Amino acid sequence: MNITVQKFGGTSVGTPERIKAVADRVSELKKTTPHIVVVVSAMGDTTDELIALSHRISETPNPREYDALISTGENISAALLAMALQNLGVLAISLTGPQAGVATSGHYGRSKIVDVDTKRILHELSLGNVVVVTGFQGINDALDVTTIGRGGSDTSAVVLAAALGAGVCEIFTDVDGVYTTDPRKVKSASKLSEISYEEMLELASLGAKVLHPRAVECAKENGIVIHVRSSFDRVEGTLVKEAAAMEVNRPVTGVTMNEDEAQISILNIPDSPGVAGQIFSELADAAVNVDMIIQTVQENGFNKISFTVSVDDLQQAKTVTSNVGARLKASGVQFDDAIAKISIVGVGMMSKPGVAAKFFKTLGDNGINIRMISTSEIKVSCVIDKADGPRALELLHAVFELDRL
Ligand code: ADP
Ligand code: ASP
Ligand code: MG
Repeated sequence: MNITVQKFGGTSVGTPERIKAVADRVSELKKTTPHIVVVVSAMGDTTDELIALSHRISETPNPREYDALISTGENISAALLAMALQNLGVLAISLTGPQAGVATSGHYGRSKIVDVDTKRILHELSLGNVVVVTGFQGINDALDVTTIGRGGSDTSAVVLAAALGAGVCEIFTDVDGVYTTDPRKVKSASKLSEISYEEMLELASLGAKVLHPRAVECAKENGIVIHVRSSFDRVEGTLVKEAAAMEVNRPVTGVTMNEDEAQISILNIPDSPGVAGQIFSELADAAVNVDMIIQTVQENGFNKISFTVSVDDLQQAKTVTSNVGARLKASGVQFDDAIAKISIVGVGMMSKPGVAAKFFKTLGDNGINIRMISTSEIKVSCVIDKADGPRALELLHAVFELDRL
């Protein structure tokens, strides 16, 4: 069975009118394509609103109930889209993650899809239905609904494409492709006609919201081409796929700014073996993902360890670090969420010396102070003050000539 998988994000299903427009588009496709699976996100800001609602009841909501709540946004959009398709005379059925056989495991709020039992989807397709599946959710071993992390509907779609043997997964969103940086933040951003999995994975992990990093990972593992395109028009978007077998000329393909991290510093901890191991094991046990880490010598055999975490994990990280800091007799723990992480990404930088230097010099020449640095073969990231973020993004985009691609 040749199956087409399409995913429509929050803005694309943000209003009843938008849902009807998606239904029009799918119904047109149905005339030539017999087997269609559509994955949907929650309407507009629904997930944010559900999260805010939970916090009006509790500062630290029970994780199971939190997922039971925040997964419901997708149920609404899926049911509405199925209704809109039916109104157009198209056979359609909505399925929740559990009904669609999406099995998850791991922590609530950030679980992973571990398996898809495609029986029900295949059955519904064989009856002629367009199958509308909720993104973002699945069911764990305890038969409870879990969610897979913010922005996770992209991953739901790619996982379903892999499980159903689709070679391409179309991700419809509110921009017409992947750009050299967020086109809402830098007007001169250029659209890329294609981008390698490696570069897209870095961009997504470093804050380019346009794709969920795990969606890119899953596409790479399964050789699925992701086509990122606009739900508002018909133009070709960006293909995310295996790198073409040619040399890359440009050193940098994209720039990202992530404003959703916070810096934590533990002050005056003993300079002795095992201390870092203890801090980061306790954070890992609490499922807090740590990003950049630096250790600096303070004085008299004491160190300061600073690291960044996602703001989503900040509450949990505060609890863990305050406890471990007290046990290590640290003189204090500081939290700062007024930071931005600015990164450049490009496979071309491997063969071009001086790229990192140009990055740092651009910031320095413009009076922007660097707090932390991290590098890999194909990226350089710096943590800077949040207030400097937008200016740094513009400057780096220009200095690496990304407006001229
Ligand atoms: P959806 O609701 O469809 O999943 P998202 O808001 O998650 O949409 O992702 C789309 C947004 O990603 C765009 O509106 C854009 O502002 C942002 N974005 C960030 N970086 C990039 C980039 N490099 N290219 C395109 N869009 C980007
Ligand atoms: N609705 C979920 C979120 O807002 C999942 C998604 O949109 O991909 O994070
Ligand atoms: Mg998204």
